Amino acid sequence: MAVVIDGAEIARRVKERVASGVAELEKEKGVKACLSVILVGDDPASISYVTGKEKALAEAGMADRSVRLPADVSQEELLALIAELNEDDSVHGILVQLPLPGHIDSRKVIMAIKPEKDVDGFHPVNLGNMVIGSRSFIPCTPNGVVKLLKETGIQTDGARAVIVGRSNIVGKPLSILLSGRDCNSTVTLCHTGTRNLPEITRQADILVAAVGRPGVITADMVKPGAAVIDVGVNRVPDSSKKSGFRLTGDVDFEAVKEKASFITPVPKGVGPMTIAMLMYNTLEAACLAYGYDKVRF
Ligand code: NAP
Repeated sequence: MAVVIDGAEIARRVKERVASGVAELEKEKGVKACLSVILVGDDPASISYVTGKEKALAEAGMADRSVRLPADVSQEELLALIAELNEDDSVHGILVQLPLPGHIDSRKVIMAIKPEKDVDGFHPVNLGNMVIGSRSFIPCTPNGVVKLLKETGIQTDGARAVIVGRSNIVGKPLSILLSGRDCNSTVTLCHTGTRNLPEITRQADILVAAVGRPGVITADMVKPGAAVIDVGVNRVPDSSKKSGFRLTGDVDFEAVKEKASFITPVPKGVGPMTIAMLMYNTLEAACLAYGYDKVRF
């Protein structure tokens, strides 16, 4: 039976360290680390993510310059807001909540954020620096997965890691991080073009699901003793809930936990880590802006 990894508790510890770093920066430099989260429209999942980020900012003692825009805001207006925040020295991080409405080109929006303020780590400059191992903002979810593995004591060195899902925000950057020298894993990145997926996932010491389909990872796809990290967040109808839905991951949790050595739940697994690493990146952006490199983790 697997150990269920308490992502909420590990995230709490990271956020505690961030909060003391925020206080230290304020004491030494008189600067309050500040993030601006831009939400366009009223997608319920996005609102819930943004609310979680705003709560974490308050807990970390950071300034919050979040902006909510109507769904029909033009691309030009959004780009003008980003240009304004780019030039505002009191704002250290800018995050545009994705997905954006169809009439807005997400790539253009991501490219418009100054790399020094791109705390999501999605700008090609940050992604490129990550690939070559230079200092950069690392995308929060993959960074959170690595942090979970390390804090739980799961051996990555020499491990065979299989990631299912190759998105630019989760699977692809995670494959770079896990195959880098710090993690030293041997990585296979799977997607819809992968032939015989179960045969490959069964070889994994570390199996990461980042697909967005409930229950796509079943027990027969897992090697006994594997560590299973479930990034997926899916809303499935549930009439017993007031909201009419419940959140579930990509992994068949009940069956897989009987076979794995470690497993993350959904919720309270990877999700809280994403927010914690966003707070970490924002503090780092503020420290970099003032040439302050004394905050230690
Ligand atoms: P995405 O952009 O939709 O990518 C999904 C990936 O899964 C694609 O690479 C796709 O392959 C692959 N895939 C889909 N069905 C598959 C199948 N049957 N077999 C193998 N591969 C399959 O998704 P994303 O943005 O990475 O998000 C993935 C999940 O993570 C979602 O549930 C999302 O809500 C969640 N998420 C959670 C957090 C968090 O903080 N916990 C953060 C971000 C995302 P192709 O490339 O071939 O289409």
